[in-house]
Amino acid sequence: MPKNSGKQRGPGPRASSTPPALRVSNGGVARPHRIPGPEKGGWRAGDSPVFDVLVLGAGAAGLTCAAEAGRRGLSVLLLERGPRPGRKLAVSGGGKANFSNRSVTPGDYLCPRDPMFCRPALEALPPEAVVRRIRARHLPMEERDHGRLFLTVPARRLAVALEEDCAAASCRLACGTDVRAVHREADGFAVEAVDSATGGSHIWRGRALVLALGSPAWPQIGASLAGWRVAASLGHRVAPARPALVPLCLPEDSGLHGLSGISLPCRVTLPDTVAGCARTFEDDLLFTHTGLSGPLALTASLFWREGEPLELDLLPGRDTEALLDASGSRTARGILRELLPQRLLDAVLPAGLARRKAAELSRAARREIASAIHSLNVTPAGTEGLDKAEACAGGVDTAEVDPRTMESRLVPGLFLIGELLDVTGRLGGYNLHWAWASGTAAGRAVLAGAQPLTGCKRASPRRAR
Ligand SMILES: Cc1cc2nc3c(=O)[nH]c(=O)nc-3n(C[C@H](O)[C@H](O)[C@H](O)COP(=O)(O)OP(=O)(O)OC[C@H]3O[C@@H](n4cnc5c(N)ncnc54)[C@H](O)[C@@H]3O)c2cc1C
Repeated sequence: MPKNSGKQRGPGPRASSTPPALRVSNGGVARPHRIPGPEKGGWRAGDSPVFDVLVLGAGAAGLTCAAEAGRRGLSVLLLERGPRPGRKLAVSGGGKANFSNRSVTPGDYLCPRDPMFCRPALEALPPEAVVRRIRARHLPMEERDHGRLFLTVPARRLAVALEEDCAAASCRLACGTDVRAVHREADGFAVEAVDSATGGSHIWRGRALVLALGSPAWPQIGASLAGWRVAASLGHRVAPARPALVPLCLPEDSGLHGLSGISLPCRVTLPDTVAGCARTFEDDLLFTHTGLSGPLALTASLFWREGEPLELDLLPGRDTEALLDASGSRTARGILRELLPQRLLDAVLPAGLARRKAAELSRAARREIASAIHSLNVTPAGTEGLDKAEACAGGVDTAEVDPRTMESRLVPGLFLIGELLDVTGRLGGYNLHWAWASGTAAGRAVLAGAQPLTGCKRASPRRAR
């Protein structure tokens, strides 16, 4: 039970008739009103007002949802355990945030329970709408290969812009607030949280609750299992974590270890044991001292299952047999050296055939060479784990969530968004796009039709951080 469950509810003793002033810093940048914990004089333990919406986690999804709900006149409080919001967003895309893609479809996501789960939210927020939002924030962007949309300024600026959106919508933000548990109450939810600085605990209350606590991928910047634990405590099933968009490790005895530093455009084919059909992707592959990385390996890692082989095509779209047929007086190695690095050829070509003249090779031998180039079978030993994973497969079972609103089918008033759900995009801006789409869907749906708690909106803590 919440520690202060028997205490007074409602706007609390610090309610005033004027809306909270927004903190203005960074050359006029408005930030959401930051709430100090009770020990810092902002609230006394037990004072907490009831907010319309509590959003747990101020990442890409939580900030988007909060701003959307705040614009509808709802009083919104974001609880974030980090020192500032949007930390994962700020490091995304190599610091330039691959924030979306020209084309986003449900097929770009792994959503094991229902491959079409993402559809309604993606249709309600197509890439053009995201681009319009980015332009409206005056953030310059560029399109790179495969339709990937990146900022040309630091991703941190997008995190700040989202914070400004929340400020403009009068949302409150409590950073340094570590969410520990959630309890259902007759008229909403009570959230137990600990102030990271003082260790003091506090209860926050909301009529509706949005879980936007992300996944455990990349724990260096605050990612945790908290969201999954809370969802499970409220009765939701959670599929186990599997690192995704992560470099693949090769077995110690792999002949490819000496290729570190080589990068080339490749095609990979993976058997899909779930859907029963193979998946094929083309992108750049990077050989590292431990295995395979680069966009192609990261994409492959999302669909790869332990023990399964990957089939690599090192020269997609080229006909190696025809090349050998056309240059009979040269060796296979000599012909292919014009197209592929020599170190790579020495590692993959059959040793007895590589240095023989093409004209001397039998048809079967030419096929063997072509197969080494176009159907190179590699079985990774594993991945580099959650510490190096840009995303995490697994999460809250989507069968228990309404795809149009992101509301729990088990707990009315509970919404689940972003990477917390068992929805994982492939590399290319799809995971951030999912954060925007699911956050927008929930922000539009939360407490739809209910009257905002206007008294609470005016509750103003004495001091902002
Ligand atoms: C290095 C890296 C690069 C990436 N690059 C890209 C990219 O270019 N394009 C792309 O589409 N995707 C990218 N991703 C993935 C993308 O960033 C995530 O999918 C997206 O940020 C998920 O948003 P979210 O809001 O669901 O979760 P998060 O952004 O992880 O937000 C969850 C928030 O909850 C907070 N939190 C966690 N536990 C608690 C707790 N107990 N109490 C309170 N708060 C808590 C966290 O501090 C965090 O702020 C990248 C990921 C990484 C790690």
